[in-house]
Order: sequence, then C-alpha cells, then structure tokens
Amino acid sequence: MSRQIQARRLEGVDKNIWVEFVNLAAKYKTVNLGQGFPDFSPPPFVKEAFVRAVSGEQPMLNQYTHAFGHPPLVKILAQFYGKLLRQDLDPLSNVLVTVGAYEALFCTFQALVDEGDEVIIIEPFFDCYEPMVKMAGGTAVFIPLRPKAAGNGGSSFSGNWQLDPLELEGKVTARTKAIMVNTPNNPLGKVFKREELKIISDLCVKHNLFCFSDEVYEWLVYDGNEHVRIASLPGMWNRTITIGSAGKSFSATGWKVGWALGPDHLLKHLRTVHQNAVYHCATAAQEAVSYMFQRELKCYGTPDSYFVQLPQELQQKRDRLARCLTEVGMEPIIPEGSYFMMADISRFKTKVPPSDDADEPYDYTFVTWMMKNKHLAAIPVSAFYSTPHRKSCEHFIRFCFVKENPTLEAAEEILRRWSHQQPSDPHTD
Ligand code: PMP
Ligand code: GLN
Repeated sequence: MSRQIQARRLEGVDKNIWVEFVNLAAKYKTVNLGQGFPDFSPPPFVKEAFVRAVSGEQPMLNQYTHAFGHPPLVKILAQFYGKLLRQDLDPLSNVLVTVGAYEALFCTFQALVDEGDEVIIIEPFFDCYEPMVKMAGGTAVFIPLRPKAAGNGGSSFSGNWQLDPLELEGKVTARTKAIMVNTPNNPLGKVFKREELKIISDLCVKHNLFCFSDEVYEWLVYDGNEHVRIASLPGMWNRTITIGSAGKSFSATGWKVGWALGPDHLLKHLRTVHQNAVYHCATAAQEAVSYMFQRELKCYGTPDSYFVQLPQELQQKRDRLARCLTEVGMEPIIPEGSYFMMADISRFKTKVPPSDDADEPYDYTFVTWMMKNKHLAAIPVSAFYSTPHRKSCEHFIRFCFVKENPTLEAAEEILRRWSHQQPSDPHTD
C-alpha cells in the first residue's frame, strides 16, 4: 500500500521565492538588486567584534551557551530595548535570541497559533508569514494596503498606501488570534504612523488579539520619519511579540542572529519551540552582537552610531535609484523606510514578451526575462501577495538598494540603455 511521504502540513508551502530567484540571479550573472542583503562590508567595529569573539581569548565562546540567548547578549538587548519600549525588560524572561528573525517568526507562529486559528496579514507582506501560519495549522486572512490617490505623491509614495480601518475590523472573527504587523514594511517600505498603529492596537485590545510585530528594518527610516514600536502603545506590551534582526541592523545578514521580545507569559511558549528546534544560535555570533549593541548604546543618537549612519547613507542610495527609475519610466514608489523600492513596470511591458504559461504572474515573467536578457535582478512583487490577490500587483517589481554605488551605477546603466531600445529590438545592448 502506498502512503504519502511528506507531512500534510507541507502541502502548498514547497515553493520559495528566494530559493528560486537567488539561483536565477546567479545563473544569469546579474547585477543583483534582488535579494535583500548589502554587497558592501559591515563597518569595522562589526568585523572587529566577530574577530574578537573567535580569537580564542575566551575559549568557551566555541562551546554551547545558554539556550535562550548568550548572557551578555540578552542582557544588553534587555537594556537597549527596555529604554525604547519603556519597559523594564528581564534578560531571562523577556528576550529570546533566535537564528535570525526567521526563527523568531517561526517560534512565534508555532507557539501561539493553533489549528483553526486565524492570523490577519497586511498585504504586501514578507512572504514567509503565510507558509509559517499554514505550518502551524492556522489560516492567514489578508487585508491589502491600498494607495490613496490624493496628495503627497499619490500612489507613488509608500505613506499613501493605507489600511481601511473598517475593512480591517471586518476581518476579525471569533477565530482571529493575532494581527501580523511589519514596519518598515518589506517590500513597500511603508513606515506605519503612530495613528495607523493605534488603529491596529485598539483592535487588538478590543478583541483580545495578539500582535506579532516584525521590525527588522527598525533603523532604516528616512526623511525624519519615526519608527514606532507597537509594543510601546497602551495595552500592547502584554500581547505583543517584537521581532528584530542583527543581520539587518548591522549589515551582516549571514550571521543569522535575531530576537523576539515580549512578556514572559508569551515568550515562554516560544522558548519551548526554540529549545526543541535549534536550542541556541551560534555563541560567537551572539557574543559579537553583544559588543555591537554595547557600542551602539554608548553612542545612541549621535553621529557615531551605525543606526544613525546607515539610514543616512541609504537615503542617498534610495534617492539616486528613484531618480533613475523615474527618468527611465519605471515609476517608483518612494519608500519611507527599509531598503526596498517597488517600481511600476507598465511602461516597459511592450519590451518584454508575454510568457507561454498563462498562469504565471506577469511580474515573474518580466523579472525572469530581465535577468536572462538584461542581466539585472529584481524580485516580482506578487511574491508578497496571497494567491487570490496576485493579479492586483503584477505590474510592480521590487528593487533592493542596499548596494555599493558601482552596483547601483551598473543597474542604472542597464535601465537607461534598455529604456532607449525599441520593443522590436529587445536583445540589442
Ligand atoms: N522579516 C523581514 C520583513 C525580512 O525582510 C527578513 C529578511 N531578512 C526577515 C524577517 C528575516 O530576517 P533574518 O535574516 O534575520 O532571518
Ligand atoms: N529578507 C530578504 C529580502 O526580502 C531575503 C530573505 C531571504 O533571502 N530568504 O530580500
């Protein structure tokens, strides 16, 4: 008798945009504005922190550490985020160090979402939320951010993409367990305003919901915008898991150090998942991140702080990419935060032949063709939407601008040359 090999919880979650497009970007030797990682070195103090951690000065850094976080790291994270969240954080019960923000998300969904529970997810959303909810046995319920045409740049400014509060409340049912928030948002770059988060937090309090807040781009906000932590709003600390990433904060995405912050009555269940899954994240990487936070705490808010320097540098990169995209006719949506920018490819459609596969979203066809023929990588935005809503966004692609200037120049050169070519002449460079 034949029996199914894989567990049922894996049904429908086997495809992954990063696995697919990272491979394609390498295969076609692209200028890579696809996957979100810096192609420049992290600042010297980051490298020094890691070198020191593996120098052998403290041989125990080669061995296991505390399951829920290396002691110096949980201590400094509690101190650092305690100030920001205006909460007294206990390093042992309010902080969990994870293998990147990915593991913090996974532990959150596994620990707090049960069979039959619903989780409200705001579209566009970082793609892993949906499969993680599914693997926990829950159901994702989607609500879109929609561009409001009026004023301030219309739909071409991320701040004008908004939730409809009534529509949001309409998504809440007796089965709703949590609302997933991501600010600054990947891929749109929207930074939720205090008033917008207040609407969400009021709903959480009113309906007794949890909030899972993915804040991995917390330091990457531009034009004087403020990153507001929803856990710091009234009534929210006790119901919120706040997720962060050293990879994103210190431009070292390969280190895979992340964390979850929250009240003990929630975090203890994340610890149960974590201790039975990975037990802990690499000791030396945690030690290094603890030095880096100690340094950041000392120079917090000053020009020496990396959390001040990085967004300044990135704002310039954002602006130059936006100028080029506007010039070539790929209308950008100016992000208030994150290191991503969505761009409208409608005016380039005539330059890219349609796919033979009628089911393939157009942005997939477009990006695949662009990688193969123009050697420029981006990510199709429909990867950040639920299947039923994919058609609504297939005229957008996402560029990543956390890249050194020569990389951005090379991408701009490709786009400029391409914009001057005739549709009938797609292969001439
Ligand atoms: N959340 C968002 C919104 C992301 O863009 C990413 C991508 N890195 C993650 C979580 C995962 O972060 P990490 O690399 O620390 O696992
Ligand atoms: N978060 C990164 C992005 O949005 C990539 C995540 C991954 O590669 N799995 O580009």
